[in-house]
Amino acid sequence: MSIAYYNGFTGAPEEIRVPLTDRALYFGDGVYDAAVGRRGKIYLADEHIRRFYRNMERVGLLPPCGKEELLRLLGDLAKKSGEEEGFFLYMQASRSGERAHAYETNCGTNLLITVKPWRPEGERLLSLIGYEDLRYEYCNVKTLNLLPSVLAARAAAEASADEAVFLRRGIVTECSHSNVSILKGGCLITHPSDRHILSGIARKNLIALCARLGVPVIKRAFRESDLLGADEVLVTSTGKFCMRAGSYNGLPLPCRSPELSGRICRELLSEFMKATS
Ligand code: PMP
Repeated sequence: MSIAYYNGFTGAPEEIRVPLTDRALYFGDGVYDAAVGRRGKIYLADEHIRRFYRNMERVGLLPPCGKEELLRLLGDLAKKSGEEEGFFLYMQASRSGERAHAYETNCGTNLLITVKPWRPEGERLLSLIGYEDLRYEYCNVKTLNLLPSVLAARAAAEASADEAVFLRRGIVTECSHSNVSILKGGCLITHPSDRHILSGIARKNLIALCARLGVPVIKRAFRESDLLGADEVLVTSTGKFCMRAGSYNGLPLPCRSPELSGRICRELLSEFMKATS
């Protein structure tokens, strides 16, 4: 079942009350992270918690508690949810204070956590659309200013697509809520980790797996035409691990390397299954 936590109170999501002094409501003035797990185990918990704290520091938020305490709290909530076969965990830290753009440096931090049922998806080809990347310039920080991503994801849904690929002056950066990489000539090509993409944990896992498999990894910007001519297009995120794309803007993608890409997708899913068994 879904459960929620806010500043010391636990209950059903609809029972939790958030005060209007939570600046996330007005500004998206906060940061978040999300992880998946099974059987009470949070997959890659340390990485998610480290990123959560790193991002709090980047926007000047004081941590609401220590990392160990947070890990204990997350574990307790995951158990309380009773979702043995898979859960999705969301944590949010936001600044407390009045609605004024400049915040007080001594204001407190709100901690919000939700746990809901989640299952790893079966294999299938995703369909994609291209979308001009018009977002603000702090894409490498998981801030709560998600409106541009929400609009892009909505545009994808309206086109009956799974994801929107952001294009920044013809360069493919990432997707509305995932990273995108390509396989070409046996190499993985992925955008450099700069301020134009969120350095995804699933993408890091993909890069590490490619290194283990002897697949060369090239971190360079690539264009929409490279995506269209790629042997395979791979979309990575915490919730979907790694999935192949089968179409872009309604047109089929070549999908020329199903063995390698299929193996990559399966191995990344099986790493999760092993880590949580
Ligand atoms: N890019 C964006 C814009 C995202 O929102 C996400 C998911 N939060 C990702 C990439 C993938 O990151 P991760 O693999 O850490 O889930």
